[in-house]
Amino acid sequence: MAGSWSLIGGIGLFIAFILTGSPTLNVLGNAAQLAGEALFLLGIFRFMGRQLPWWIVPLSVSLMVLFNIHYWMFDGHSDFLMGIYSTIAGLLPAQAVWLLLREKSDPATRPARLLVGISLLIYSAVTLLRGYLGYRDWWLDAPYINPYESFSYLLPYNFAIPALVMGFIGVTLMTMQRILANSEIHAEQARHNALRFERLLGATTSAVMIVKTGLIQDANRRLEQLTGLSRQSLLQQPVITLFPSQSRNLIEQHLSRAHASQLDVDALHTSGKSFPAEISIAPLSADSNDLLLEIRDVSHRKALEQQLQLLATQDSLTGALNRRAFNERAQQEFKRAARYQQPLSLAILDLDHFKSINDSYGHLAGDHALQQFAGLCRRLLRESDIFSRFGGEEFVVLLTQTDDAAAMALLERLRQEVSKLALQQGAESFGLRVSVGLATWQAGDQLDSLFKRADQALYAAKSSGRNRVISWTDDVHARLADV
Ligand code: GH3
Ligand code: MG
Ligand code: MG
Repeated sequence: MAGSWSLIGGIGLFIAFILTGSPTLNVLGNAAQLAGEALFLLGIFRFMGRQLPWWIVPLSVSLMVLFNIHYWMFDGHSDFLMGIYSTIAGLLPAQAVWLLLREKSDPATRPARLLVGISLLIYSAVTLLRGYLGYRDWWLDAPYINPYESFSYLLPYNFAIPALVMGFIGVTLMTMQRILANSEIHAEQARHNALRFERLLGATTSAVMIVKTGLIQDANRRLEQLTGLSRQSLLQQPVITLFPSQSRNLIEQHLSRAHASQLDVDALHTSGKSFPAEISIAPLSADSNDLLLEIRDVSHRKALEQQLQLLATQDSLTGALNRRAFNERAQQEFKRAARYQQPLSLAILDLDHFKSINDSYGHLAGDHALQQFAGLCRRLLRESDIFSRFGGEEFVVLLTQTDDAAAMALLERLRQEVSKLALQQGAESFGLRVSVGLATWQAGDQLDSLFKRADQALYAAKSSGRNRVISWTDDVHARLADV
């Protein structure tokens, strides 16, 4: 573009020079025309993705200015000056001709490139011919002829300049063809991306939707499966209607923040049932308000987590808490009891002669007996009591807000119920007996010390004939000390 304007300016200056005869206009005109050609050439090379040194512009201009000044200062020969001008002006575009005609990499612009190449070839050939005529007239010292009568002056105006104009038109065409080809490539890329996006949405196991100002704009098939609603009825629906009312505020907050976030909430199915879901919200792109919202059904994961939680805290045979879970919960209860000065009792229950049950009826019958015993305990104890299997046939229960007398009553009832159990092994029937050691919280007690006293009481129960509940007292302590 700069090249064309410079060239047009140069031609204008040259015409002004012919009209006025001013040497300055002549120097400036020639310099501007060559600068224009050189810039034009740089433009073509850049269009073709090639490099041409930038200094070709000042080099051509300064060569011309030097010869032009020399002509005016030392009264040089006008044909020689014309020869110099034409040589530079002819050689400049000649460099682009080869490139334009040979290049194969960009088929979309090939017709226009050929037009530019041929135009520049004609322009170069005519201009170089004109240069040759200039040198010849200078050499032969031919008499000066007015420009409008001179063949060598008229030659470019009739042939070279029209060819150059064709070249300009060709370059404009070339640029348009490139723009057109690029926009086709972009359109194809956009189609390809849209198709990929569509496939991605179809392939994912999550429900994915695009949300704008809280309304569902687009959604994949998975959302239909998760919600039980048709895609048509989902479009333009407020997205919060997919969730129960208690979660809606939270989701709206996340939607309005419009930056990537994740949360666990329940989602609704059209049947009215809800299912645990994990949702992620993220902006679709940096320059739009559209959000990408993903809903994953995590029922399976939640169920597994629950199962793992049970496995980690429960004894698999009896369903009682395991020792680790008991200790954790007991520590909390202990602190609470100390803070509120509430009574707390701890009992250790050990089945009597359990080894002989295993020996007489088999290990499976023993297992079954343990399950029956644990079931009975759970039925008689309260929700707030902490019941656990410490190992083998030994169970521990922490009785919250229960003093010694109440604990004694409860455990005695439990002992009696246990003795009434009739367990079946084939045709045979057998019963269970349990010994219980009880200790009640005293000021300054730790879980360990309470355990120790309950254990001593159990020992007393066992050693005094089994099938009984004994609460720890100083008396028990003294008796044990005597043993
Ligand atoms: P005591 O009256 O002194 O408590 O006698 P005991 O036989 O109950 O005591 P001991 O500690 O000698 O034996 C406990 C038995 O409990 C031994 C073991 O075979 C049995 N046992 C431990 N865990 C299990 C279990 O998970 N299943 C079955 N069937 N038996 C178990
Ligand atoms: Mg036992
Ligand atoms: Mg035991």
